[in-house]
Amino acid sequence: LLQLYAPLNFLGFVYREIKHSLADMEKMFNLMGQNAEVKDIEAAQILNTQSASIRFDHVDFSYESNRQILHAVSFDIPAGKTVAVVGSSGAGKSTLSRLLYRFYDVSQGGISINGVDVRKLNQISLRAHIGIVPQDTVLFNDSIYYNIAYGQPSANRNEVIQAAKSAHIYEFIQSLPEGFDTLVGERGLKLSGGEKQRVAIARTILKNPPILIFDEATSALDSRTEKAIQAELKEISTNRTTLIVAHRLSTIAEADEILVMEQGEIVERGRHRDLLELGAHYARMWQLQQGDEEVSID
Ligand code: ADP
Ligand code: MG
Repeated sequence: LLQLYAPLNFLGFVYREIKHSLADMEKMFNLMGQNAEVKDIEAAQILNTQSASIRFDHVDFSYESNRQILHAVSFDIPAGKTVAVVGSSGAGKSTLSRLLYRFYDVSQGGISINGVDVRKLNQISLRAHIGIVPQDTVLFNDSIYYNIAYGQPSANRNEVIQAAKSAHIYEFIQSLPEGFDTLVGERGLKLSGGEKQRVAIARTILKNPPILIFDEATSALDSRTEKAIQAELKEISTNRTTLIVAHRLSTIAEADEILVMEQGEIVERGRHRDLLELGAHYARMWQLQQGDEEVSID
């Protein structure tokens, strides 16, 4: 009996941890207004890797049965590489990141990580491998410290501070009367879009996962802060499998592949130079943004 006790105690610990993260995940689902319909299959596999290659294979998807959003979307992100997605608003870019995180399941085709369909993976283990900086970050009604440390609950204070510094949010936190203990979220201090994005970036830096998703992660920042943070993001995405949805094309010129999406389809793909040479969608978008950049530098 004594011999059994230690492992059971350990299992109790694991169970509490899992329950804790489930509760947090549910909280997050509610906060993000996403459904929690996606369920693990029996004997779902635990994902456990530092090197993840991602494949979207002829993915069709609809949120509602009468309107198809994605049409036969296929692309690969080899382990450690970066794929960027651009295209007009409503093209389906954020939907790709929601499907990879498995907020929803595809209608046709499949998404796999290291050859295993995400529908066969244990959700907690899948999400533990992904750091996502979404378009609209929703914060927990808790301290700003909790909101960053959530990325890695075992992190110590120094690591949380370092992450906050890398995300250029540390000085702002220091300026608050209660510092890291300041309550944020709906019932606390309301942060601006840019401040929330930096909290989400700090959380992701702290989590340090093998897969990164940046969905217009710096869109709410002024151009100077954006430039500084882009350098950080580039550093953390080195050797990590990264999906970037970009609003500013200058930030993705070095991506291993760029996908141009329109109305749920990939209409162009290649590297920055190739797409400029092609002289079609991407080249037009690039031309249009050159003017913006000059204005925003002033
Ligand atoms: P993008 O990120 O490229 O702007 P999204 O992937 O967010 O586009 O959205 C693609 C399309 O799916 C849009 O037409 C949008 O209105 C629709 N859509 C997004 N989320 C939902 C949802 N939860 N329910 C129904 N339709 C949605
Ligand atoms: Mg989007």
